Amino acid sequence: MQNFRSWVTGFARIGEKRELKKALESYWKNESHFESVKETADELKLRHWNYQKDASIDAVSVNDFSLYDQTLDTIVMLGLEPDRFRDISDKEARYFAMARGDESHTAMEMTKWFNTNYHYIVPELRSGMKGCVDISKIIEEYEEAKVVGVTPKVNLIGPLTFLANGRRMDSHDADAVTLFSEILPLYEEIIEEIGKLDDTVVVQMEEPILVTDRAADLLLLVKEAYTRLASVCDNVDLCVVTYFGHAKEAAAQLVQTPIAAIGLDFVHGPQNMDVLELVAQSGKHLIAGVIDGRNIWVSDIDEKVALLEKIAQIIAKERVVPSTSCSLLHVPYTLAYEEKMDAQIKSWLAFGLEKLQELHLVSKIFFDGAASLDADEALGFARNREAVKERKVSQKIHDAAVQKRMESVAKLSHKRIPFKERIVKQHERFNYPPLCTTTIGSFPQTPEVRSVRRDYKQGTISEETYIEKMKGFIADCVRFQEEIGLEVLVHGEFERNDMVEYFGEQLKGVAFSENGWVQSYGSRCVKPPIIYGDVSRPAPMTIYWSTYAQSLTKRPMKGMLTGPVTILNWSFVRDDQPRSETCYQIALAIRDEVDDLQKAGIKMIQVDEAAFKEGYPLRISDRAAYEQFALESFWIATGIAEIDTQIHTHMCYSDFNDIIDTIEAMDADVISIETARSGNTLLKVFKEHGYEKEVGPGVYDIHSPRIPSVGEIEQQIESLLEVLPARQLWINPDCGLKTRRWEEVKPSLAHMVEATQNIRARLG
Ligand code: GLN
Ligand code: ZN
Repeated sequence: MQNFRSWVTGFARIGEKRELKKALESYWKNESHFESVKETADELKLRHWNYQKDASIDAVSVNDFSLYDQTLDTIVMLGLEPDRFRDISDKEARYFAMARGDESHTAMEMTKWFNTNYHYIVPELRSGMKGCVDISKIIEEYEEAKVVGVTPKVNLIGPLTFLANGRRMDSHDADAVTLFSEILPLYEEIIEEIGKLDDTVVVQMEEPILVTDRAADLLLLVKEAYTRLASVCDNVDLCVVTYFGHAKEAAAQLVQTPIAAIGLDFVHGPQNMDVLELVAQSGKHLIAGVIDGRNIWVSDIDEKVALLEKIAQIIAKERVVPSTSCSLLHVPYTLAYEEKMDAQIKSWLAFGLEKLQELHLVSKIFFDGAASLDADEALGFARNREAVKERKVSQKIHDAAVQKRMESVAKLSHKRIPFKERIVKQHERFNYPPLCTTTIGSFPQTPEVRSVRRDYKQGTISEETYIEKMKGFIADCVRFQEEIGLEVLVHGEFERNDMVEYFGEQLKGVAFSENGWVQSYGSRCVKPPIIYGDVSRPAPMTIYWSTYAQSLTKRPMKGMLTGPVTILNWSFVRDDQPRSETCYQIALAIRDEVDDLQKAGIKMIQVDEAAFKEGYPLRISDRAAYEQFALESFWIATGIAEIDTQIHTHMCYSDFNDIIDTIEAMDADVISIETARSGNTLLKVFKEHGYEKEVGPGVYDIHSPRIPSVGEIEQQIESLLEVLPARQLWINPDCGLKTRRWEEVKPSLAHMVEATQNIRARLG
């Protein structure tokens, strides 16, 4: 393979102004033709290649673009569309029906791409599927990229990752990897076709599955797959790229295959240093992921160059290819649109385009020395050194008061007095019935609610008007809940745009970008908060709204907070101290809020941990450390609760099998979970575990506009009662109602209350 001097694993595609999102959504609403989506897509591809060309990036990807998702594109390329979509003859209609469903087709399942917030479409696989290779998308992009004048490499999701992320539909127990021998020939065909594109073609096979614990049982297949694939075509240089962690086991196999290069992530997998000798002996190129594709801090260029030098002590320099640690899909596009952000904080950040510059600088200094930099580059380097230096000492980041408080944080991280004692006091205080009815917190975010918030933010309405309007929404919501007979009420969260952003905006040490969008799935993007410094809470965050809501009713009003682990997991987190430290700091801020709430008479407090599970590390060996700091953070946040203050938590998923011990250890008095779609199977895990605290398994699915009937909910409650006693159960929907409309929420909740009353009457 030729000696590349810089390599970008992949680029984002939604567009720096979310152009693709807008084009897709307008097309989906039938407001435009597919032609305009295609135009936008072509423009974006071109723009992104040019950005990389302008930054002198050597190896630039084709086929990293997608109208929805690369795994879905791979399914199409392999001809493995599930049969149920075959009746749709229009290619585009079929593609988007697989992604999103249509009137007559349910969408394919979507799930998280490893430990990122990106979601991919899960391949539905069966033995005997007749694939049919079609690489026209690749051919088209390859030709387009050549016109731009970049050296294209073709990105593919590797067969092992594709299979391991897939699901076997014809056998529930069989792992989709068992279809290896059926799928590999399709990949061989693809390589053969790609070989026809050019004199030599570089192919990047992405195999992030090899950084997970699954690597250990895939070793034989790694060797077979890449021995075969690398032997298909003499003129194809196959590069197997891993990211998000170390790939030590697989690397030892890969070096024994005839591939041209191996890609390792040195940002998130420093252990990869251990396999350098093997790579060196194999004579392969090393694609060295040194620029962080997952986080947004400026790289310490000196440090990155030093790391490459260290690698070059073992592997011949010309065979080392400086690279991003993974695709830039996971970071926002550019700082160029950040006009409101504090200039100093901004100088500590690097989004996608800035990362291209960093990669170029690192590469040039590594290969040619700092003396070779031109005036602009030298200025960039000097700025980088300055930013790195400032970040180490800035008072914006380092807050003495927070650090002082952190000295004694260990003392605060312990469980409360035993649940059995607490729950008695709590029942005395609240005197709620078995099967107590409640909701998860948010109520419909109507256009009116949104516009009031927007007007206030833009300054077109006064604070007084804003407060008055918000109070109106709260009062209506409380009245409605009372009317239909809910027993534990909420204020409705109308003042919140997002459960993390709302708290982030009020915490010191957290910044927000204006345009820092990152694709989450399809056309959906998120704009994660940026935790840049020591976190603290300058003032109460929820007391005003919660106490106002409580003043309107005699029934218990649940305080509503987002938990520290969730705030951490849904943000870009500073990399200059362990994540655990940052999490404890957030926990202290939430702890203060819990205390203020209970002092203000709000003695039922829900601390949402919607993202607790998604923070789990990819390797089992790293889990204990995560669980420990996550648990400790939850304890710090909630441990201040008095014996008769009832702590609730909520989690938005339904897979608790392997974390039930940890859930128990969180020690929340009541947990509400998402079970509506899994009947009572999930609850059985709680039963088998001997879970003694109270549980609110969602009795209907809020993700659908369907209004559940009274009978249906009664059945659901009956099935819950087969597993746990009424005393231990709460009745609630399975998540917040903010995405629903009042027309759906009103009858659904009324049915829920009625169903509960019927069941209670039956129980006597
Ligand atoms: N309290 C939040 C709400 O009701 C919880 C949302 C969530 O867990 N995703 O919206
Ligand atoms: Zn939820």
